[in-house]
Amino acid sequence: MDFDLTTEQKSIFDTARAFAIEKLAPKAVEWDQTKHFPADVIRELADLGMCGMFVREEYGGAGLSRLDGTLVYEGLSYGCPTTAAFVSIHNMCAWMIDSFGSDEQRAIWLPELVSARCFVSYCLTEPGSGSDAAALTTRAEKAGEDLALTGSKSFISGGGVSDLYIVMARTGEAGPRGISAILVEKGSRGLSFGAQEKKMGWSAQPTAMVLLDQCRVPQKNLLGESGKGFSYAMQALDGGRLNIAACSLGAAQAAFDKTTAYMHERKAFGKSLDQFQALQFRLADMEAGLQSARVFLRQAAAKLDAKSPDATRFCAMAKLLVTDTGFAVANDALQLHGGYGYLVDYGIEKIVRDLRVHQILEGTNEIMRHVIARDLLAERPP
Ligand SMILES: Cc1cc2nc3c(=O)[nH]c(=O)nc-3n(C[C@H](O)[C@H](O)[C@H](O)COP(=O)(O)OP(=O)(O)OC[C@H]3O[C@@H](n4cnc5c(N)ncnc54)[C@H](O)[C@@H]3O)c2cc1C
Repeated sequence: MDFDLTTEQKSIFDTARAFAIEKLAPKAVEWDQTKHFPADVIRELADLGMCGMFVREEYGGAGLSRLDGTLVYEGLSYGCPTTAAFVSIHNMCAWMIDSFGSDEQRAIWLPELVSARCFVSYCLTEPGSGSDAAALTTRAEKAGEDLALTGSKSFISGGGVSDLYIVMARTGEAGPRGISAILVEKGSRGLSFGAQEKKMGWSAQPTAMVLLDQCRVPQKNLLGESGKGFSYAMQALDGGRLNIAACSLGAAQAAFDKTTAYMHERKAFGKSLDQFQALQFRLADMEAGLQSARVFLRQAAAKLDAKSPDATRFCAMAKLLVTDTGFAVANDALQLHGGYGYLVDYGIEKIVRDLRVHQILEGTNEIMRHVIARDLLAERPP
């Protein structure tokens, strides 16, 4: 068993982190405060292959593995987890189109998405169904040559800004098997958006309701097979959960690094903070948490790459463990900065606010326990 990254993997990580340090970190607090969505900077990431990471090379993507993906997101979120997380959702959707789309859908959309000329959003959650996503009620019905979609999607990252929306809608029976995934282009008749949500964190990326009122799209916009949309959405989330976890890890590492530097400089009672054993022990716990989270995340990613039968469980465990650890480390970093950690200019409180939502979205951490336990107990029939 070799825990070292290969030369190529190190280079992927270094490229992402260098971009984060040069292009994201210097602006992250300003973007957060002004609620500026840095679309132009995200487009620069496309030149590095980071907007079509899991799209096959024959369609212009980078064809990276899931393990490679965790390295990219860890690197990018070192500079700004909000921007990294937006890119992760875009990549998750591009992967869905590559994996399940028709040749025509791939030909139309993948060049636009890989180049980030267009952004794409994932629309599963509804006002009445979040964790219980299979209970969604948005309907898509045949209307001549078209599909007519009616319903609302809440909390949609990129809502109002994205050019394309992958909408999970009911086309059949109740439950997961009656759900299809449908591509809805911005500008479609009957598509509109709610106001931008005011949020605790992730302020530099848009979140809004996506409203569908007899929204007409051609029937050929059905992604893959009718009735498979929920399965596609869940498969996408295996990778999505690794990515969100990696975003927590990179940002928590940034908070930790800021903290060790600060504690060396800051004096109290005649010595620097890093000379107090109580605080050294806190640092030791933070370091142990980060390192174990990193190893576990990479193991889960390797399992997804290997299509291991327990990959879904490991992705859920990684999301639970790494996002909880990431938040705890960031919060400890704030505490160790004293009052300065609470001030915007130090960049720590933003990380705490940003990482809080990673415990909620792409399946809450309670739902991760549900996924883990269900898979675990399925191996031990009564
Ligand atoms: C900033 C932001 C961005 C988002 N982006 C997107 C997006 O792009 N696309 C998208 O589709 N969605 C998105 N979401 C939605 C997100 O995935 C949901 O908020 C999340 O899945 C939880 O759903 P809910 O908010 O309806 O909470 P609920 O499902 O109402 O849950 C409320 C609480 O009950 C707990 N709970 C529920 N059921 C159980 C159970 N069976 N056992 C134990 N505990 C349970 C939950 O864990 C939670 O603590 C986003 C959310 C936020 C905040």
